[in-house]
Amino acid sequence: MIETDAVIVGAGPVGLYQAFQLGLLEIEAHLVDALPAVGGQCIELYPDKPIYDIPALLECSGRSLAEQLLAQIQPFGQPIHLGQLLSSLTSKEDGWFELITSTGTAFTAKAVFIAAGVGAFQPRTLKVEGLEAFNGSQLLHHTPALDALADQHVAVFGDDELALQEALSLASATGLMRPASVTLIHRRDAFTAEAATVTRLRAACAARQMSFIAAQPIGIETQAGRLTHLHLACADDSTRLLPVGTVLALLGLSPKLGPIAEWGLAMARKQLVVDAAQFQTSVAGIYAVGDINTYPGKRKLITCGFHEATLAAYAAAQRLQGGAPVAQQYTTTSPRLQQLLGRVPGNAAR
Ligand code: FAD
Repeated sequence: MIETDAVIVGAGPVGLYQAFQLGLLEIEAHLVDALPAVGGQCIELYPDKPIYDIPALLECSGRSLAEQLLAQIQPFGQPIHLGQLLSSLTSKEDGWFELITSTGTAFTAKAVFIAAGVGAFQPRTLKVEGLEAFNGSQLLHHTPALDALADQHVAVFGDDELALQEALSLASATGLMRPASVTLIHRRDAFTAEAATVTRLRAACAARQMSFIAAQPIGIETQAGRLTHLHLACADDSTRLLPVGTVLALLGLSPKLGPIAEWGLAMARKQLVVDAAQFQTSVAGIYAVGDINTYPGKRKLITCGFHEATLAAYAAAQRLQGGAPVAQQYTTTSPRLQQLLGRVPGNAAR
């Protein structure tokens, strides 16, 4: 059980900035995110697209914004627990909260900041009767190490840049690492991937390094508990039986609100209702910031989330010190804040 002042659920841009504001106020915090990397929507949905409305940054990409926000909290050394869905949140009688993640990490905390955006991103999967039973063994949603696919018939589903790149990279594997076959499958012969990648795909198919089938999966065949074949309904109205060892479903991610709806917090249209002064939910000590919250005038913008995180941090600090007002300091002039940020020598420990 990890005992801490605060847990931040979600390490998207707003969760990261929440950690920064808590660090300035000397509130110890742990971050938890279901994804394997920080950055939330910025990393999952538009890592290389330009953002033009972050104050004082003429332009940055989703990726560089996430990197800069992560760099900004480095001085505080707040632990980040990635690849873990915060599944349970309960209030205890002593006013603390108990939180447990999908991998069993447990916290007790005096304050909780929910920065869960549009929910936890989960991979879209193929809806074929019986296939789910092979999830994690022969049905995968991330490309495994190449040697795990050696000498196997691999069926890759997807039409975006990632799906085509992964299929091409598997098809170009050589020697002992090489799969027995690589087949890209998409319901039609049109892709959302970059034109240059589609050209490479067509060249690889022409050179018989891999195949493409315009089709949808409609059934499976198994033998001795192993998935052996996929039944495909092809775009030309024919059907095919494709031998498979591994099905790689690279169909993108979809956000799922998940357990947050079960935590007994007041919600409106799948968002947590907060006040616009403290960004506190219907439970004292639990705050909600960023895309997950709603209040009159709410805008789902990163700068609005930064403002919310700042006020929520001050509100929590006041609550943690028994209601006494919290003095505001400027990073420009406060030697203490500059010590905490590692900008001037001194003891940053509390
Ligand atoms: P998110 O970025 O959604 O991050 C939430 C994080 O919480 C995720 O990483 C998720 O995995 C995690 N999470 C959720 N539930 C759990 C749980 N139970 N346990 C653990 N982790 C959990 N905004 C702008 O201001 N300017 C722009 O130019 C702009 N462009 C955009 C372009 C696109 C295509 C899109 C889709 C959005 C754009 N936005 C833009 C909106 C902006 O991305 C969001 O406002 C911002 O990402 C919200 O940040 P957040 O931290 O609140 O949530």
